[in-house]
Amino acid sequence: MSMEPTSGSTLELRGVTKRFGGTPVVDSLDLVLRPGEFVSLLGPSGCGKTTTLRMIAGFEQPDAGRIVLDGVDIAELPANKREVNTVFQSYALFPHLTVAGNVAYGLRQRRVPRAEIAERVTETLQLVRLERFADRKPAELSGGQQQRVALARALVNRPRVLLLDEPLAALDRQLREEVQIELRLIQTRLRTTFLFVTHDQGEALAMSDRVAIMNGGRIEQLDEPELVYERPATRFVAGFVGQQNFFDDVRAERGLLVDGDGVRFLPETAPAAGFQGTVAIRPEAISLRPELGEVPVNACAGVVEAVNTLGDSRQYVVRTTSGRTLLTRSARVSEPRRFGVGDRVVADWTPDHVAVFPAALAA
Ligand code: ATP
Repeated sequence: MSMEPTSGSTLELRGVTKRFGGTPVVDSLDLVLRPGEFVSLLGPSGCGKTTTLRMIAGFEQPDAGRIVLDGVDIAELPANKREVNTVFQSYALFPHLTVAGNVAYGLRQRRVPRAEIAERVTETLQLVRLERFADRKPAELSGGQQQRVALARALVNRPRVLLLDEPLAALDRQLREEVQIELRLIQTRLRTTFLFVTHDQGEALAMSDRVAIMNGGRIEQLDEPELVYERPATRFVAGFVGQQNFFDDVRAERGLLVDGDGVRFLPETAPAAGFQGTVAIRPEAISLRPELGEVPVNACAGVVEAVNTLGDSRQYVVRTTSGRTLLTRSARVSEPRRFGVGDRVVADWTPDHVAVFPAALAA
């Protein structure tokens, strides 16, 4: 591969705010992308992901804040003067141009010398493994191949930062997973800084160095994928990434946490007197046992209501004595099925799996 890796660029957003009709949709956002980093912006529809990307690209003007690329504030520069390119979900290739023609288009517009265009198009098509398809028209390619042409069209400009707005959303699941792996390999080779917008948590966790979880125009947590999953900073993050069993209205009582139904929790760190908030426990952190005598701390009793095979795991739905639903998951489907519908069980968990959110963070 002849395309040289870059040294990677730093992108900083400082207090970036955008209002539409008076309402902030991006609210004093701070975000720093390190050189060569792959960061995902993950959040529900309408949380401001696309607006953030559009401000970095120059398609939207921030009402406040700075956008700094390698030490230079680019917030006032027109889009075509920023060394930033965007790959969109709808990639709108020119149907009458070949793959090579599509990739060359931007360079031709900018009157890059012919020989250089040829060289850069060839090396970029090699990078996305489409060199054999250079003379085809977009209609003669699969969806995944077309998306790789769109990627090549952006990368051929050698941007300092590549912005990707749900670029894989239109692909079916299997293809999407293949392109995810490929995209990450390309990014690792080039070391171009990538900012990837998605509402698909699996995609964000699988591809990114760090994931920024957005909610209501703000970033609630920016961390490595493992930390976002294992150590969510807020109740929102805990619920948005992966599944959870939430116990709201939990209070500190004599060194334990107790919910409204009397379920008792002992987290790793003893709760402060007067604590109020939420406890969250992942389904895979809960084990089921036959019901035996009094229900201990970090456990609750119930009846198995459903057993579902999810492919790589088995899910039990337990109706607790107080009537709430508890999801539990055992990792191995090959394990013998220990409980069936109607069995009385005790669901329990260890202190290290008790995630605690004070009411202020649980809003
Ligand atoms: P999605 O995943 O649905 O694309 P998103 O997180 O990317 O969501 P944005 O597209 O950034 O969200 O939109 C954030 C909010 O701003 C939404 O409520 C949207 O309706 C609003 N919005 C976006 N663009 C405009 C605009 N040009 N005028 C008015 N409101 C807008």
